[in-house]
Amino acid sequence: MAKIDIKSMTPDQLAESLALIGEPKFRAGQIFRWLHQRGAASFDEMSDLSKALREKCNEKYYISSINIKKKLVSTLDGTVKYLYGLGDGNTVEAVRMTYVHGNSLCVSTQVGCRMGCGFCASTMDGLVRPLTAGEMLDEVYTAQRDGAEKISSVVLMGIGEPLDNYDAVLYFLKILSDPGGFGLSLRHVSLSTCGLVDQIDILAEEALPLTLSVSLHAPNDAIRKKIMPVARKWPMDELLAACGRYFARTGRRISFEYALIDGVNDREAHARELGEKLLALKKRGAQCHVNLIPVNTVDGKSHTQSGRAAVARFEGVLSGVGIATTVRRTLGADINAACGQLRRESAG
Ligand code: SAH
Repeated sequence: MAKIDIKSMTPDQLAESLALIGEPKFRAGQIFRWLHQRGAASFDEMSDLSKALREKCNEKYYISSINIKKKLVSTLDGTVKYLYGLGDGNTVEAVRMTYVHGNSLCVSTQVGCRMGCGFCASTMDGLVRPLTAGEMLDEVYTAQRDGAEKISSVVLMGIGEPLDNYDAVLYFLKILSDPGGFGLSLRHVSLSTCGLVDQIDILAEEALPLTLSVSLHAPNDAIRKKIMPVARKWPMDELLAACGRYFARTGRRISFEYALIDGVNDREAHARELGEKLLALKKRGAQCHVNLIPVNTVDGKSHTQSGRAAVARFEGVLSGVGIATTVRRTLGADINAACGQLRRESAG
């Protein structure tokens, strides 16, 4: 019988599974703490379990692990980029950013991605496989062990589309926030999606206190379809309506990501059109804000970054109509911190 991935199990699932081999519920709590607080890599380390139980666990479960294959540290701002090796030899990336209020870790949710966004390095070779909840947790635990400062927020903005790996991501969130484990409040977690409307509605039903980031990158469907294939399936109106429903259900402000690409989506008229649509959303009661990002250039792609003046003009138009707008600070510029680039380099 195939062994079970124990790191991807919630405490309740673990208790149920252990009950099948005659173990009382408190054992689940013990083992969960070993895995998610104490970083145990084997059952033999779990010194408060009997030898017989450790053997039973070894037969029934396996403990996944990842390792740091490469680590780049920015000399500009201390941003750290990890290339992680997974058990099957695949690789993913995570980026650790230092802010005044703590450390934030950007994690990957899939090996590769099948969303096909025209400006993104992560999707250039398609989807290899989804990550398990345990592997995503290990991205956090491994970065935490490697650095002195506490990881106080997590953003699902690395390689992959989180809502295309929905179940594993949900288990990841539940386990990450469990007080018996890493105990990170979901108020300090952001999940970024390219806009899978049906999955946004399903996530809203969970009513989790996390921040939904939506990668918009265009003021209308015509431009969006050119750079994001997902727009062919889900029109912007439907996407914005789902954002309204998400806010109504969770009360959490929606964050819109907008990568400014020279001559493609960065004109004043684009800012006005976007401003109108977001104002309409606001009038329907949903709070939102826009994060402007000068697009990162990627080898093999032809897009170029908007100039400073275009960024400032775009920001000015949105703020002028009353949409809260920030321009994202560039971190790790010297280590290619934009997601997907290190994995491609190492494969090439
Ligand atoms: N699939 C999810 C999360 C991963 S990408 C999503 O699409 O939201 C995280 C963010 O980085 C997204 O907003 C994505 O559009 C953006 N991004 C990807 N490539 C980029 C690039 N070259 N420059 C700037 N932002 C980029």
